Amino acid sequence: MGTVVPKKILIVEDEKEILDLVKLYLEKDGYRTYTAMNGLDGLKQVKSEHPDLIILDLMLAEMDGLEVCKRIRTDPHTAMTPIIMLTAKAEESDTIVGLELGADDYVTKPFSPKALVARVKAMFRRLERKEEGPSRFLYGTLAMDLLRHEVKANGREVPLTAKEFGLLEHLLRNTGRVLTRDVLLNVVWGYDYYGTTRTVDVHIRRLKQKIPLLNDAIVSIKSLGYKLKEP
Ligand code: CA
Repeated sequence: MGTVVPKKILIVEDEKEILDLVKLYLEKDGYRTYTAMNGLDGLKQVKSEHPDLIILDLMLAEMDGLEVCKRIRTDPHTAMTPIIMLTAKAEESDTIVGLELGADDYVTKPFSPKALVARVKAMFRRLERKEEGPSRFLYGTLAMDLLRHEVKANGREVPLTAKEFGLLEHLLRNTGRVLTRDVLLNVVWGYDYYGTTRTVDVHIRRLKQKIPLLNDAIVSIKSLGYKLKEP
């Protein structure tokens, strides 16, 4: 058995009692925690500590949770970090905005720390399953086979360019998550590519033309980027 490296979790919460309680329960479960009591400090620690997961309160001083979430998602280095948002019942409409901006899950206050830890565990399990890397994706009548380098819609092969293929693969790997144009550009085209984010829009449009079922399935999220809806 090798040494297990504890997962790092950043908690951004301005209510000290909640912060301490969440920290206590997560550490009891073997996680390493970092804490911030306002949005700006939270963002700073996201960059310096590279947490594996972020628990982010919606209502924060300095910079609110939505803005923090948005900034995490638009920075290609942090864009894929999972975020669990803490919200109050009265903030339900903001919760929806939060999910649109790329929070992966949310927990409504008041919550039991045990329930939150369970959500954290579930999130890590989900991510580990994804990392095992399936070689085949099914999405409705769409089938993508990475080993054969083949995409079929309704049983019929769809010829895609390498970039279209890469773009579709990344969308299928991350269904339900908002992917910014910058992230897609970096993943599919590479960091040293000189194109603009418009390139992504053009390729998304081509994918939709070639595979009509993606017309409704790929949604554009405000000025951010794209999301392939859960099937
Ligand atoms: Ca708060």
